[in-house]
Amino acid sequence: LTRLYGPLTALSNVRVDVMSALVSFDRVFEVLDLKPGIEEKPDAVAIPAGSGRLEFRDVHFRYPSADEVSLATLEDVTALDRTENAPVLRGVDFTVEPGQMVALVGPSGAGKSTTSMLVSRVYDVTEGAVRVGGVDVRDATLESLRDTIGVVTQDSHLFHETIAENLRYARPEATEEQMWEALRGAQVAELVRSLPEGLDTVVGERGYRFSGGEKQRIAIARLLLKHPSIVILDEATAHLDSESEAAVQRALTVALEGRTALVIAHRLSTVRDADQILVLDDGRIVERGRHSELVTAGGLYAELYRTQFAVSDSPGMPYAEATEQ
Ligand code: ADP
Ligand code: MG
Repeated sequence: LTRLYGPLTALSNVRVDVMSALVSFDRVFEVLDLKPGIEEKPDAVAIPAGSGRLEFRDVHFRYPSADEVSLATLEDVTALDRTENAPVLRGVDFTVEPGQMVALVGPSGAGKSTTSMLVSRVYDVTEGAVRVGGVDVRDATLESLRDTIGVVTQDSHLFHETIAENLRYARPEATEEQMWEALRGAQVAELVRSLPEGLDTVVGERGYRFSGGEKQRIAIARLLLKHPSIVILDEATAHLDSESEAAVQRALTVALEGRTALVIAHRLSTVRDADQILVLDDGRIVERGRHSELVTAGGLYAELYRTQFAVSDSPGMPYAEATEQ
């Protein structure tokens, strides 16, 4: 635990008026998948090990306004006006059965990332409930929640430490063999092996600088080591060139095998394979079903399919570039 919290303490000492420091501070929690501001109830229960069911029950959410937050995050600090924020999620209700892959799609600002953050308790619901393995996440022990959920977002953070240390955040007792196995699964073992200091290579500004795609694969190795039963991906391959996107995609295929997954995807190929697609628009699920059904239905999904996903899969035109003006 000391080694887990050591860097947190170090980071909390940086000058908080520097935005980039706040960004890293925020990212730390992403790595640990939970935010330390959240509290465990005295009578908290453990989510049963290996639980794979994820439920959203009539979830409503609005971001807390500046005067409501105790621990400032980047967004909260910039939102200094004291007006109440508008609701972001309005009655979101769905179930991901164990082993299923559910894709969450929708226009930018629909509430996809917010939905994913409610699972790992970056925020808590305003109304309704999020349950993991049948346990309301607010009633769960933080340790069991952390063990059950693994998150990969579009820009993964690596600490200015060795690769081995970065991997051990996921599993402090991991052996070298287990680390190599995870790196292999994440399609990044060859690269690490080619570095003169291998697992002991220091990463970051004054060490080895990984590319975006390489960082993502190290993050996926961390996920593989951790072995969570539920994986949440928030556009994990966005902002990558097509070559490294392909490598990250291969790594994710390994990472998702046999797990429950909630995937916020910008690639058609991922969405097409989903057991269920949820189409989120302005905080509500407006359509749900499989790819072919939704294309036939001719609604918002069919439109996204034509305008975004189709474009995102043509080489050299990643979604972000093609749709964000
Ligand atoms: P998506 O991931 O679908 O693009 P988000 O979940 O990021 O959408 O955002 C949903 C809505 O919530 C947007 O209107 C966004 O402006 C708002 N929002 C996101 N983060 C915050 C925040 N920290 N404070 C207030 N509003 C936020
Ligand atoms: Mg988002």
